[in-house]
Amino acid sequence: MIDLKNLTIEKARKSLDAREFSAVELAQTYLNEIEKKNAELNAYLEVFDDVLEQAKKADEMMEKGESYPLLGIPLAIKDVILIKGKKVSAASKILENYIASYDATVISKLKKQGAVFLGRTNMDEFALGSSTENSAYGVTRNYYDNSRVSGGTSGGSAVAVSAGMALAALGSDTGGSVRQPSAFCGVIGLKPTYGGVSRYGLMAAVSSFDVIGPITKTAEDARILFDNIKGNDPFDSTTLPNKNSAEFKSKLSIGVPWNLINQEGIDSKVKENFKDVVRRLENSGLKIKNIKLPNCLPVYYIINFAEVSSNLARFDGVRYGLHLNGDNLLEDYLLSKGKGFGRESRRRILLGAHVLSAGYYDAYYGKAQKAREALKNDFKKLFSEVDLVLTPTAPTPAWKIGEKSNPLSMYLEDIFTVTANIVGVPAISLPSGFIEIEGPFSQSSSEAKKKLPLGIQFMASHGCEDMLFEVGKKFEEVSKL
Ligand code: GLN
Repeated sequence: MIDLKNLTIEKARKSLDAREFSAVELAQTYLNEIEKKNAELNAYLEVFDDVLEQAKKADEMMEKGESYPLLGIPLAIKDVILIKGKKVSAASKILENYIASYDATVISKLKKQGAVFLGRTNMDEFALGSSTENSAYGVTRNYYDNSRVSGGTSGGSAVAVSAGMALAALGSDTGGSVRQPSAFCGVIGLKPTYGGVSRYGLMAAVSSFDVIGPITKTAEDARILFDNIKGNDPFDSTTLPNKNSAEFKSKLSIGVPWNLINQEGIDSKVKENFKDVVRRLENSGLKIKNIKLPNCLPVYYIINFAEVSSNLARFDGVRYGLHLNGDNLLEDYLLSKGKGFGRESRRRILLGAHVLSAGYYDAYYGKAQKAREALKNDFKKLFSEVDLVLTPTAPTPAWKIGEKSNPLSMYLEDIFTVTANIVGVPAISLPSGFIEIEGPFSQSSSEAKKKLPLGIQFMASHGCEDMLFEVGKKFEEVSKL
């Protein structure tokens, strides 16, 4: 029996290389877990029919003496990253039955190593949302309490890792979509530096914010997955040249924006947990400084709406995806887009068209871009004063499904995560403990205790992912004490 609960990429690599189990056995064990849990949790939209075939190939590679960090490692892939020949829908009806015609760069890199793709995971349609409730294929439930959301938009990927239905996963992060579901599900999520990982083959939501990132159980696993997907790519001109990352200092200084954390609307248990984390870090020898950060939500959402409205314009029901026939071309568009897109996508397309329209452009989009530049400059200065910035990942724990029906209340959930995307810096979410919650609980989640996970977020300067992995490992140690 393979002990999935304590398995990491690092351990699986050793066991595979030592032939303690085969890639086929490992993949089969995950398929069994998926079979048991997915009907309830809805983490996967599709489990691929060639998983065992992929695993067999990985075993053959190992037989030939090959070994790569991700050879034979079973991964879950968010339904917004293209795998040649597989369906990919961004959890939208408008792309129903669309088949990817090429591999995303991250997928080619993983394929070369013989990684095993288990399936495609659920998400908010086109990565717009914070709970995976905006999927056209049903909500993904939180493994700790199935009446609650998984977070979003990479909710399926986070639940797959949290519930032992994948060893690790890929998500995408535009304003928190890797970090916040990771926090809600008790796992680790990394949003790399903008341009650190190629976006080729990632369906665009907000091209100037989007980045693909790993979701894992340990900081070391996040490093392994990131190291093997990162790098310059001729197919994405915004990727950065590979550079050696910053040296790790033993005495890191950490800025905490208490002005944001102490404001209204932050859950009192989140605050309590966060203060406890700060105390523990201080006791472990890290320097904590008080800093100030602005609320970046208005800047984030204006730019988000603007870019979403132009990126989603290509889904017109003519060239691919859902097509509905009206009496003329305009009616075809209206019908296809009206039925194909969910409410949140339509809302953002309309708001985006508005903030970009003549007469409003300067007041909204232009102003937001100026604020973005100013924020980038502030961050340059900030990172000359501190090494890292620490916040809770989200202002609340996972909420009840359906609880946040007002879109604005959902947008407020992104207060801590959007800043890293606006500025382009890397950020990691780490599990920071649990809070008690009240039942009732369903049968299958009863093993999953009456508690909900919380997360904290560290941001670092551009290209300093290694500092995040190091602080992540240190925090894992501190948390065990
Ligand atoms: N919750 C944010 C939004 O709705 C971020 C989503 C994401 O990172 N894809 O835009």
